[in-house]
This record gives sequence, C-alpha cells and structure tokens, in this order.
Amino acid sequence: MKIGISSCLLGTMCRYDGGHSRDKFILEQLSTYFDFIPFCPEKMIFTTPREAIRLTKKDGELKVKTSSTNVDVTKKVSDISKELANQIQEDELCGFIFKSKSPTCGMERVKIYPENKSGQSENTGVGIFANEVKQKYPLLPTEEEGRLADAWLRENFLMQIFSYKHIFEFLKSSPSFKDLVEFHTTYKYLIYAKSHNSYKYLGNIVANHGKKPLNIVLEEYKYTFLETISQKGTISNTYNVLLHIFGYFKKLITKEEKEEILESIDDFKNEIIPLIAVIKLLNLYTRRFDIEYLKSQKFLNPYPKELALRSTIKAYK
Ligand code: SF4
Repeated sequence: MKIGISSCLLGTMCRYDGGHSRDKFILEQLSTYFDFIPFCPEKMIFTTPREAIRLTKKDGELKVKTSSTNVDVTKKVSDISKELANQIQEDELCGFIFKSKSPTCGMERVKIYPENKSGQSENTGVGIFANEVKQKYPLLPTEEEGRLADAWLRENFLMQIFSYKHIFEFLKSSPSFKDLVEFHTTYKYLIYAKSHNSYKYLGNIVANHGKKPLNIVLEEYKYTFLETISQKGTISNTYNVLLHIFGYFKKLITKEEKEEILESIDDFKNEIIPLIAVIKLLNLYTRRFDIEYLKSQKFLNPYPKELALRSTIKAYK
C-alpha cells in the first residue's frame, strides 16, 4: 500500500538546515504496512543546506520568500509543487503524510509573515505543495505527522486509508450491481459510524431507484463513499452501531450475558474502556452464533489489529 510522504519525515537530510524531521511512529509502526513514496519539492529547486523560505502576505497577496534575503521564490515553489502533484495518479497513493508547519508541506496553520514590519503574522497558511495535492485530490486521505500523535485523528486517518485502498481495488475489478451491493453491505456499520446521512444516501445510490447505468452509479458511489470515509467518527455514532450489532444476538443469550455486553457498551460511551474491549466481546458472540452478516462487517475488523488503534479511550471523541 503506497503512501506519499514529506521526505524529511523519513529521516532524509533535506531540510533547509541540512537536517531531517524523522518521525518515530511513521518509521517504526506504519512502515510495516505501507510503502512510502517520498516527496521533497524544496530539494528539487534549492541546494541543502539553504536559506529558509517562508510564506508572506502583502495587500492580500501571498508570496514565498527567502527568510533573510527576501528573494521572491513563489514561482519556483509553485511550479515544482504543481509538477509533483500532477505526477500523482488518483489510485496510485492511498494517502499522504505531510510535514507540519512547512511553507511547502504544511497542511494547515502555517505561519504567514507580514511584508511590512509593523504587521502581525498569522497562523492560517497552507504549504504550497500540500495545497496543490489537496486541490487535485480533495478526497485523498491526508494528515500531518504532528496530528498523528492524536489517537482520534490517527484512528480516523488509518481507517480512511484502508477503506480508500479497498474501494479503488473494488472499482478496478469491473464490479457488477450485485458486487456493489456486497461491497456496500460490508461497509454498512463503518459508514453508519461516520454519518447517518451518508448511510442513507449511499443506500439510495446502491438501491438505484432511478435505474441509472452501472458506470454512473459506481461513480456516484465512489465519490460519496470517499467523502463519507473522510469524515471523523464520533462516540455517539459508534455507540449506536454497537447497539445495532448487539441486537443480532440479544435474543440468543442469557440475561447476565446481555447485561455484561450492555455495560461494556456504556463503559465505552462513558470513556471508561477503549472500543477494542467491546469489539472483542462482540466478535466473540458473532463467532459463537456464526452470524455471517456481522463477520463480514468492516467496522468490526477495519485494519490489521496489530496497529492497536482502538486500544485507547482517546481514539474516540
Ligand atoms: S517539509 Fe517538505 S520541502 Fe521541507 S524539507 Fe521536508 S519534505 Fe522537503
């Protein structure tokens, strides 16, 4: 699975000061599952080490300038950023991890300096390259390395990446209407945990009441699915999904077993236990009663369990 990444996060000495920004989590945990495709736009136009560059603004116009000599390098940085973004194919990457705060790679809150000395700096900028990638692929999963330290953002990002890869593989397999129904069925609870509206909307696309041709339905489904998985899950939506799943075996188990499951679901909602503890319990009953529909649900097993993304109460908000 290929993920684009700002090169310096891999330990490449391409920063302006000749150093790197090696990220332990990315290198030690994510590298087991992903092939990283490195990008460093600055290294392609400047030498290393080099004078730092920064975003500046004058009369509303955004520029990229060298920090002490004030040379305008906007065109150079924009051109290479466009060129690199254009090299990326829609289905080639499953996501992108950007270096935070960089005037080239930062996804958000990049510092913009005033051109006149009396003005105030703002933390509202977006790096030129990150912006090009986002413009070209608004639904490609993207995150910054700093934000991946947040368990909630990390869980959402990785779930999005695995689902993103899955739908592109599915679409490449020349699916029929029946295949689409099957694909959608496996994602029902994962989608429900993201958004009730999207759940209804995707259900309507698959039902195809308007008898649209397959290629149109698949395109509509792809767009809405990608938009849905880009949303962040919430505790309350996830709580509802857990109750739905519980409904499949509540009539098959004893009063004590029912109470144990409901207590676990409530403990998750009240941020006492992590989601994985409830999922373990639900998977146990799913296997015990051999409930095929639940066994296929991506919500119960969305990515390799070794990633341990649902093992902390902070993974849900
Ligand atoms: S932040 Fe981006 S441009 Fe800067 S050194 Fe890292 S990869 Fe290169």
